[in-house]
Amino acid sequence: MAYKDTLYLPKTKFPLWTTRDNGELPYVAKTTDDLYKWQARDPFVLQDGPPYANGSLHMGHALNKILKDTILRFQVLNGRRVQHVPGWDCHGLPIENKALGELGAKAHELEPHVIRAEARKVALREVTSQRNEMRQFGLMANWSDETTYRTMDHAYEIRQLRAFQEMVKCGLISRHYRPVHWSPSSRTALAEAELEYNDKHKSTAVYVAFNLDLDALTPKLGELVTAHGVPRLLVWTTTPWTLPSNMAIAVHNDLEYALLRRTETQDLYLLLQSKAEPIIGEIEVLATIHGKDLVGTRYRPLFSARPSQPLIHSPHVKADKGTGLVHSAAGHAQDDYLVMQALGMLGARGENILSPVGPDGHFTAEVKQLWSDVDGLEGEFVLGKGTALIVHALQERGHLVKSEKFTHSYPYDWRTKQPTIVTATSQWFANIDDLKERAFAALDKVQFVPAGSETRLRSFIRERSEWCISRQRTWGVPIPALFDSEGNALLTPESLEHIIGVLEKHGTGYWWDAPASEFVPPGLSGEYTKSRDTMDVWFDSGTAWTALGAPAAVVLEGSDQHRGWFQSLLLTSLGAGDKGLGVPYKKVVTHGFVLDAQGRKMAKSLGNVISPLTIVNGGPDLKKDPAYGADCLRLWAASVDFGRDMSIGPKVLANTAEAHRKLRNCARFMLANLNDGAETFDPVPRSQMGLAERYLMHEIYGVQKEAHEAYLSLNFPKVVTSLVNFCNVTLSAFYFNITKDTLYADSADAQPRRAALTVFEHVLRTITAVIAPILPHLAEEIHATWQGPHSDLSVFARGWQPLSDEWDDPEVEQDMDALMELRSLVMGLLENARAEKLLKSSLEAHVDLVAPEMTQGNQSELLNLLEKHFDELDSLFIVSRVNLIDKADYEPPSNGQWSFTKALPMQGDLDLEVYVRPSPDGKCNRCWKFTVESSKEICERCEQSLQNV
Ligand SMILES: [Zn+2]
Repeated sequence: MAYKDTLYLPKTKFPLWTTRDNGELPYVAKTTDDLYKWQARDPFVLQDGPPYANGSLHMGHALNKILKDTILRFQVLNGRRVQHVPGWDCHGLPIENKALGELGAKAHELEPHVIRAEARKVALREVTSQRNEMRQFGLMANWSDETTYRTMDHAYEIRQLRAFQEMVKCGLISRHYRPVHWSPSSRTALAEAELEYNDKHKSTAVYVAFNLDLDALTPKLGELVTAHGVPRLLVWTTTPWTLPSNMAIAVHNDLEYALLRRTETQDLYLLLQSKAEPIIGEIEVLATIHGKDLVGTRYRPLFSARPSQPLIHSPHVKADKGTGLVHSAAGHAQDDYLVMQALGMLGARGENILSPVGPDGHFTAEVKQLWSDVDGLEGEFVLGKGTALIVHALQERGHLVKSEKFTHSYPYDWRTKQPTIVTATSQWFANIDDLKERAFAALDKVQFVPAGSETRLRSFIRERSEWCISRQRTWGVPIPALFDSEGNALLTPESLEHIIGVLEKHGTGYWWDAPASEFVPPGLSGEYTKSRDTMDVWFDSGTAWTALGAPAAVVLEGSDQHRGWFQSLLLTSLGAGDKGLGVPYKKVVTHGFVLDAQGRKMAKSLGNVISPLTIVNGGPDLKKDPAYGADCLRLWAASVDFGRDMSIGPKVLANTAEAHRKLRNCARFMLANLNDGAETFDPVPRSQMGLAERYLMHEIYGVQKEAHEAYLSLNFPKVVTSLVNFCNVTLSAFYFNITKDTLYADSADAQPRRAALTVFEHVLRTITAVIAPILPHLAEEIHATWQGPHSDLSVFARGWQPLSDEWDDPEVEQDMDALMELRSLVMGLLENARAEKLLKSSLEAHVDLVAPEMTQGNQSELLNLLEKHFDELDSLFIVSRVNLIDKADYEPPSNGQWSFTKALPMQGDLDLEVYVRPSPDGKCNRCWKFTVESSKEICERCEQSLQNV
């Protein structure tokens, strides 16, 4: 028998490398679907914010889903049952547009049921495709139709309508004719959350001169006019197309205005003195007048024989922009609307509001009534030729003082990426003002991660007063209002009770298909028509709480959801009063956006898009885009500080894969020495373990504790860092190296060998659990390879298993630190010898530790330590022998031998002298240590081992 066959060499079926096919796929069912089924009581509820069911998943989706899954898996590992119902947001414009595209028709050319049927088909197809993609991230869920949700599901829609009914009951829903954000490209109203601000938008800004009505001047202004002549009012606007809707000019009571003469033309103007020169050049101030003395004065509307209009006070007028005189159009600005409404200028139902703009953003015939003197505006796009024609008319009639291009932040339709306008339409609104105080009080009870994100959500709610919930589209949940022959809307808890009953029976599509009479509540007579409005999709997804019986433990979405889902979830739940959940979540977690390696947004046009599916499965060219597997993607997601925007690129991915490989190899080494669990041995209790083993256990105890806390605080990067450090430094670079000789060459049942195997069992079990929420496939693979009790169940069934507190031993750490200092000194000397090619293996060396003479009362802690752990020093230094010798007895290596020496200062001026020199003994042919007497082939230890083979 060859000696090498008597060594306890590591044996494992655990492959060094795997592919997605044989490494991950065999564990997919076990760690996803099956695991989800296995757990199902007393659930920890994570409510899934439904992604929009359109297009392939991007890195943001992957990050979001993986973070959620990591949280859930940690809960399962710790014995909690979790409830996670994946959802999809299915209504709305992009899907409707896709459906129209596939039908090859425009919305107004088709019956609603045709559009809706096609849109449903598109949404289902997208849901199926996204579901298949999601499952490749290793997510634990039940993906059946019954245990997932879609906002277009019949049951979901009915619950949503019931929640809406409760809000109507609470008096929160009303219809107004008033300005709203309108998307001409989508032909629908938009909510704040659907706007995307473009900082580089260019508008045409104009300075327009209005003529005073000399029969309607305030006395103060009358005096100035008599003394100095008649000024014109100089007004600035960035939306010239809204000038036909002008209803007033606003000033601020407290600002001081100047009547001044423009030197160049001798024209007189009224505006803020500080603003004048940049606009009209050199001036001469003739008089000043306070805003409050201007209010009540009237002026002539442009291009119209209409009666003159008033100067009003508005708190929104500021001295830092424009001229201090603000063109006010209640039809095209929220502030103007509110101010004029308060002044009673708009009529009870807003009938006085001017807004000559159609759904497509083109001027209607009404513009001709307003500006009877200007031709050609009707039918022109307000942001295009409409604006140009207006500027031209102003110029031609001497009203234009100046015009310029003005770059500013301007709201765009987030779906179509086209500019929006503000225009007056009749819409349904949810009154947020009445909910605000309750919302703020409710948020006091919510925990936010990161903590600062709370401010963001609160400020979005604070800024909002009304939520426009109606959309003029077909693919959505209807707002089931009826209109009588005079156009009065009928939308009451009672009418809804009847209508929801009908829709519950026939589905919401029936709203479009059946005649209005089907929906008229019993007891009412007369002719009614049906509203054609649908609900804002944020209202759809916002009512997801209706599926829960109690607030969710956690919601986790991107930071854009402070404007969106986090808000609509809260507001609809509070708005539903007694039937709502109050605050629908206990913890709100937000993550940033995933950017490319250079920190840029990913975009097709930039060619920098990284698909999470390519990371998992590889690209067409595997050399360029290797198939890293789902675990590698998950390791990346756990490594990033998700509270901020984060980067990903080929280099980051390669580093992540390397970290993954090292974790894997670490586990493999331990598995192999345990012969995949086939090795049976008596475990060694702590009291009989050596220093290195107790140190290892102390360290892994710390890692486990730190990881547990980090998981609870959602600090996943801390879990990863702590684990990777432990594996690379403590295990791989240190413990595995010093313990190989014991593991391979000692007797099978030698105590040091059993101690090392005992440590391996603890460490392997612990790190498998620590990695499991992040790297479930790897954890399952280790768990299944490691034959043992319950290895047929998922590793999550085995649970977290906290290590006993007995392993927490700061004294061991202190001792080890002291010895490590000596160890690195020895390693340095060995390195010197190796550099001069005096030795290859450190086993060829002996180490002499020469101790100074110690007197009574002058005991060295280091010397005590060396004596205490003397038996372990050779393996700690990975040399064949260590001698601890009194200085008086020591004979330094003779001339013929090489040696390296260095002193380690101890207390006082005493040194420990360290010598590294060649071993005088022969090489053992079994263990390769240089500890053999010249006449023998193998060392004593090996002789003993062999007797036990
Ligand atoms: Zn040997």
